[in-house]
Formats: sequence, C-alpha cells, structure tokens
Amino acid sequence: MPGPGPEDEDKVQLQAWDIGLATAQRSADLAQTLPAGITRAINMQVRGARRSTEAREPELSTGRMCSRPVPQEPLRRVAVTGGTHGDELSGVYLARHWLRAPGELQRPSFSALPVLANPVAAAACRRYVGRDLNRTFTSTFLTAGARPYDPYEVTRARELNQLLGPKASGRAFDFVLDLHNTTANMGTCLAADAAHNVFAMHLCRHLQLQNPDLSCPVLLYQLPGEESHSVHSVAKNGMVLELGPQPQGVLRADLFSRMRALVAAALDFIELFNQGTAFPAFEMDAYRAVGHVDFPRTEAGDLAGAVHPLLQVCALLGPPARGQGPPDTCVPDCSQDRDFRPLRPGAPVFQMFSGEDVLYEGESTVYPVFINEAAYYEKGIAFFQTEKISFSVPALPALAPAPGP
Ligand SMILES: [Zn+2]
Repeated sequence: MPGPGPEDEDKVQLQAWDIGLATAQRSADLAQTLPAGITRAINMQVRGARRSTEAREPELSTGRMCSRPVPQEPLRRVAVTGGTHGDELSGVYLARHWLRAPGELQRPSFSALPVLANPVAAAACRRYVGRDLNRTFTSTFLTAGARPYDPYEVTRARELNQLLGPKASGRAFDFVLDLHNTTANMGTCLAADAAHNVFAMHLCRHLQLQNPDLSCPVLLYQLPGEESHSVHSVAKNGMVLELGPQPQGVLRADLFSRMRALVAAALDFIELFNQGTAFPAFEMDAYRAVGHVDFPRTEAGDLAGAVHPLLQVCALLGPPARGQGPPDTCVPDCSQDRDFRPLRPGAPVFQMFSGEDVLYEGESTVYPVFINEAAYYEKGIAFFQTEKISFSVPALPALAPAPGP
C-alpha cells in the first residue's frame, strides 16, 4: 500500500490503496462551509480490465478459452472444505459434523472427503491466526522451503497442497467444494473462477435449477491477471459456496441447512456426471469481478467515511408518504443490502464523516458485491465491482462408458 502523499495538513486524502481510485482532496476551510449532505463526485476507477456491462462472451461457445478441460473420467477424488476461514461457522460446523459422520458425503461412485481447512483458526473462532489461508495457495508460498517463522497458514497451505494437490499436478483431487460465509448480503452466491470453467458452470446451473426459490447468483471472481490463491485451486477444479449475510463467529440454522442442502445437490450432480449423464448447453447470466474499491481514508489510513446508506439499503425503503401504501415498485427484499443490484453513474457510494456524499462516476452501470464485508476492511476493500454478463455454456457431454472387464 502506498503511503500518503505530501499533502497540506488541511487537506484530507482519500486513499486508494492498491486500486486506481482517483485521489480527491478538499480544504478544511471549504469543509467548514459545506452544509451537511452536500454532494461530492469522485471519479472511481477500478483495477482490472474495464468492459461494457451486459456484455456477451462470444468466445465461450467456441471453447477457445477452456483452461479447465471438461473431465474425461469420473470424478472420484472430491473434497468438501469448511473452515478455510475459522469464523465462518456454517462450513466450520458442517466439516466437524461430517468428520464425525461422513456418510452424508457418500455417493455410489465416490465419497467426498470432509476437511476442516484451518483447524487452528476455527478453534480460535478467527478468520486466521497468521495470515489469510485463502490467499496463501500461490506458487510463492507452496514451493518455498519451510522456515521456523512461517505463519501457521503457510504451513497449513502446504499440508493441504499435499492432501488435495499438488497444485497443477495429475495427482490433484478432481474437485474441491469450499464453504464460506460472508457478512454481506450475498444470499446464496455460487462462486467460480471464470465463465470458461464449463464443468463449474454446469454445476452452478444444476444448483440453480434445484433451488428455484433462491436466486443463486453466479460470481466469477478471478480478476484479470490474478494468480489463483484459494484452497480449491490446488485441485483440478472447484468452486465456492458463499452464503450470507451471517456475522463472523455466528451460526445461523437457516444458512447451515441451506449450505448442507447445496453440498448434497452438488455431490448429486457429480454423481449424475459420473454415471454418464449428459447436460445440454444453456445460457448463463453471471457477475464478473472487474475490481474493488476501498473506503475513503484519511492520510493516516483511517476511515474517512462509510458505505453510503443508499448503497447499503434499497433506495425505496422508508415510510410511505401519508395516505399511500408502499411503493408498488418496491421489491419484497428491499430492506436488504444492495449486493448484485445495479449501481449507476451518479449514485452515492460513500458518506463522508464530514457529511459529503461520494458519488460513483464510472462510465457504466456496475453491480457491487461483498458490500461492507467485515473481513475486507483490513484488505482495503469496501466492495467489489462486477459487471453483469450473459454467455453460452456448451453442452457437457456424457462420459464414455468404462471398458468392460
Ligand atoms: Zn471466507
């Protein structure tokens, strides 16, 4: 993170950590004369390729970008990892339960291995104890020699790489399903690396069809040029269930049950594939990460504002005018935070402690996710920006029958 610039003492710098968020300054004199609630526009630029929203992906149907080949063999080595973050309790308690009673993870053609990914952090009910485990599965950490002062998670990442990998090797597990919670209003979020992961897209589609009452948005989280660093990246393939909102260190029965049912449905899908089921092509809508935005900060790096109420709460929420009912355009969940909702140019994104509003001045509509996620304050992320894309996913062909004895 770059340090603060040589600014005058009477100016506040909104820091931009590792993203290209334009610096905005104001004089203290001016601030004293600004009435509360005055609007200030800041041109927010995000790291990563900027693309038009609602974009098409014409290359997908040609298979040109297939970096994850469609499996040619049954998936027999499957793992379900919980507690990668030790304070995300749905996965922690599901993993602990399955370690005692693994029968729920068995299918005729395979038995999924339950893994409590970060047992030390889970015992402490913390996200991690040394460094974020789910940012540690990079070649730098996995290939370096062990040193006595390595953070626990570096050692644990190497252990998991031995158990579920080695990364990018033929011996790696076929599929890892990683279980997470978020404090943000992400609902039942299905997260995969990219749209060209055809098997994962079919799995997402299966989970959506199995849960018609849930919206199950698909998040494509891999930023352009970013090295994969998550636990399931040591396997040949994988994806993430990201359920929220749930506070850190809190176990909600509804999310626990939902995650358990999603895991069962995912294993059922793998079983169907293993048994020779073919899955037809389909059209997919998804949200592709294009960058992230930090909070406005003081020169010292402290927060200078908060996520704006209108980004966090539906603009239509509020008491109806006298004599009127609720606005008829109000969606049923309008009291929820605005993850996966469109953020249009000119809409407020931060409310400065000075009373000013910071507006989104990007060129096109984006769809923020992980809004105000508690674990991301330390990472300098107030929310991720995504673009909504539609693309064709090619058919998943049936496996060739195994040769007879
Ligand atoms: Zn997590």
